[in-house]
Amino acid sequence: MRALVYTAPEKVQLEEKPRPQLQSGEVEVAISLAGVCGSDISGFLGHSARRKPPLVLGHELVGRLPDGRRVVANPLISCGYCPACLAGAQNLCSSWRLLGMDQVPGTFADFVAIPGTQVYEIPESLPSTRAILTEPLANIVHLFRLVGPLPFFRLAIVGAGTMGALAVAASRHIGAHGVLVVDVNDQRLSTMKQLGAKYAVNTKTPEGVAEARKLAGPGFDVVLDASGSAPARQMAFDLCRPGGQVVLLGMGAQKSEVDFVTSIRKEHRVVMSFAYTPGDFRRALDLLIAGEVDLTPWTVQLPLEQGQEAFNQITHNPGATLKMTLAVSPN
Ligand SMILES: [Zn+2]
Ligand SMILES: [Zn+2]
Repeated sequence: MRALVYTAPEKVQLEEKPRPQLQSGEVEVAISLAGVCGSDISGFLGHSARRKPPLVLGHELVGRLPDGRRVVANPLISCGYCPACLAGAQNLCSSWRLLGMDQVPGTFADFVAIPGTQVYEIPESLPSTRAILTEPLANIVHLFRLVGPLPFFRLAIVGAGTMGALAVAASRHIGAHGVLVVDVNDQRLSTMKQLGAKYAVNTKTPEGVAEARKLAGPGFDVVLDASGSAPARQMAFDLCRPGGQVVLLGMGAQKSEVDFVTSIRKEHRVVMSFAYTPGDFRRALDLLIAGEVDLTPWTVQLPLEQGQEAFNQITHNPGATLKMTLAVSPN
């Protein structure tokens, strides 16, 4: 089978590989479409300690089982019996594995092996460009579940990438209002308005920052950092009202400084959100099947053979693209 192998920082190449050897309980999925995630990009750039070459990257997939059923798959594989798994927090499993990470081959290939319990059948009517969002959207379902916002909450989002965009789109269905998105990319900011944000402000300049603070007024009830850079994290705290919730999702900087004393005086509640549980994954899929969330107009599809080009483009020149996908097979 063909596989796109990450061979060195900023380098991927198509290679011929043997088909997966199935372990007990696993199924083989023939990939139709694979999504390039932010974590794949960090791997591609050589920034991910758990993605070392040679490795087939990718964990987002739409494909078919040998019996013809069309599926998506939850790529986060948990053990099922550790205390976290037993508590329903499979995202915190002490031995979780992810497709396209460590020694586990990913989805940028003709076939991938995965436990049969991880696959979810999808209707033929669900376009692949929407189905491929199940895994990223599951992260958003998870964080809003942790936050448990009150009705008609005011929401601000720092970072207008894929996660910020999915958060805007999903938040409209859970009562967010007056949504503000801040970023430093005008093209992406205008997309956020199309997705339902009321305000989109470029905070590259001091004037932009002042405008965002003015719109915040007494502060937002919930502020999501979907960027993970040090200034973005501080910005999330700055925009949050006393007693409000700051949600940290972005994993850009390993460490960063936050003005804790100011936040302690404001009794900011901090929610850190990582990945998703099988329940979150199912809910995300249901939202997509219902047509409630869609990024198709900002999704680019390139053939697997053009993997290098796809990575170069989404990493260095994304423009308005929010989701890069690799078309593996037309099945
Ligand atoms: Zn992903
Ligand atoms: Zn576990």
